[in-house]
Order: sequence, then C-alpha cells, then structure tokens
Amino acid sequence: MRASSVPDPTARRTRRTRRPRRAAYDAYLNSRTWSDKRKQWYAAWLTAAGVEPACLVCGRRWTLKAGHLHHATYARLGIEPVEDLVPLCRRDHQRLHALIDAHPTWRRSDRRTATAAIIASLRQAPDARADDNPTRPQSPAP
Ligand SMILES: [Zn+2]
Repeated sequence: MRASSVPDPTARRTRRTRRPRRAAYDAYLNSRTWSDKRKQWYAAWLTAAGVEPACLVCGRRWTLKAGHLHHATYARLGIEPVEDLVPLCRRDHQRLHALIDAHPTWRRSDRRTATAAIIASLRQAPDARADDNPTRPQSPAP
C-alpha cells in the first residue's frame, strides 16, 4: 500500500471529510499491510532490544496477537519506521487515547511529545483496581 493512500486521521478536517478519513484509517488497521507491519515491528524490536516487547506503561508482555501499537506520530502512516510505533497493552492504549482526547493541550501539542508525557504520567499513576493489577499473571488472549 502506498503511504499516501492512508490519510492522517489527525489532519485538519471538516465535518464532510471526517468520516472517510477515519474509515480509511480503520481499513488500514484491518489490512494485511498493517498486520505485516506489526510483524516487522516485532522482529525489529527483538533485534534491537534483545528482549520481548512489553507495554511501556505497565510492563505487561506484548504479543503479536494481543499487543497494541500506538502511533507516536501519523507523519509516516503506511511506511512507519519502528520508532513511530509504541508497544502498549490494550488497557493502557485506551487510557492514553482517553487522555489525549480529554486534554486540549495534548491534542494541540506534538503527538510524539504528548505520547511520551502521557506514558510517563500513566507510569506514575498506575491504575489501582485489583482486576488490573499488572503483577498478576496475564490471562491468555481471547
Ligand atoms: Zn499496559
């Protein structure tokens, strides 16, 4: 897939273009291209880090099956280099997006900077709910 065929979902948009952009982004995340990208990312991480990836917030083991990759930037959507993608568990990916969406300052700031700041803040304030305790053994992915 050509990178140019994947629209930036955060690009300035009108009411008229919002839905098609989001739909194209969702289609990309469901594509073989993205699935292959995740595998490439995983292999590149193992080569570079020498250890299995883990959620950068809570340390849960990251797997190809269940792990999420957060786009630290949409600048190279479709041709993302390894460093544009951040391993997170599903829960912390949702928490990060909830914070970005809730805070106008973060929405306006550079996405990579916002991502780093939010991850740091989530690490400082782990969710204390018992069912989310990251030290418990992880249940198998559905
Ligand atoms: Zn996590």
